[in-house]
Amino acid sequence: MTKGIFLQPANIKNKMVREHLERTIFQAVELNEILRFQPNIRSDLERFYVWGVIPGTKSKWEKSQIGDLVVFYSERKFYLLGQIVDKFHNKSLARYLWGEDQHGRTWEYIYLIDPDSLIQIDVDLEKVIKVLGYSPNFILQSALYHKDEKLISLFTDNLIEDSTKKGDVITTVHREKISTTIKKYKRDPYFSIKVKDNYKNKCAICGIPNEGTVVDAAHVKPVKEGGPDIEENGIALCKIHHHLFDSGLITIKDSKLAISPKMSSQLQKHPIISKFLKKKINLVKTSEEFLKWHRENIFKA
Ligand SMILES: [Zn+2]
Repeated sequence: MTKGIFLQPANIKNKMVREHLERTIFQAVELNEILRFQPNIRSDLERFYVWGVIPGTKSKWEKSQIGDLVVFYSERKFYLLGQIVDKFHNKSLARYLWGEDQHGRTWEYIYLIDPDSLIQIDVDLEKVIKVLGYSPNFILQSALYHKDEKLISLFTDNLIEDSTKKGDVITTVHREKISTTIKKYKRDPYFSIKVKDNYKNKCAICGIPNEGTVVDAAHVKPVKEGGPDIEENGIALCKIHHHLFDSGLITIKDSKLAISPKMSSQLQKHPIISKFLKKKINLVKTSEEFLKWHRENIFKA
């Protein structure tokens, strides 16, 4: 399925845009802050980068979907790429975050970006114009939405892997904060969505459905150990099984839950463990290679 991409002009030479970037992109907005205005968030994250568009751009915003990419644009360059994890219309939240413009409008068609997905890019408008077949004089003045495989790879194939390669555009805005974000190396913004899709949005061990954002896309080999963002290294786990898995108290062997001898007998007897000990785990794309790595390196055998 081709994802869409939202092209978002955000001119860093504009003082107001810069203030908005400082407020909700260069620093994250806590989930609790958003929940005060928007009671239902369809994402399991605790913090978000937030952006929005004014009613005049609503029709473009409406086309975007959860899981789509967004790229920020300024001065003939695209400089940031992130993944949309939720979107909603909320005027009060927009007013609270950014106030109003001189015409009394606010950026009420809001979308949330996964902070871990945000990376710096450096893609010239000319390349985008070429892919889209627009006239060379084309100027990107308001947001656009496209579903175009070629356009997506133009952005994702150009991810900056070397964090020392900082583009001029963004460093002039906010060098430090953004560089800590891009130091996180190349990440796949679709990882979480793909993994949860594979497991039908349920915990692989206990089957609890992802309501109230209780299911995570867990890395079998953790990111900090060099575990890649690929489906083979992902498994959907509820918060409890995720935590036990990461702490090495449980693992998966022969498609079954295995428990560490270090686990207390009290926990061993608890239904969250005991009930699933003999049950076969239906692994979807999760590879034995990474599970083996987990058993040998994380699991407290
Ligand atoms: Zn579970």
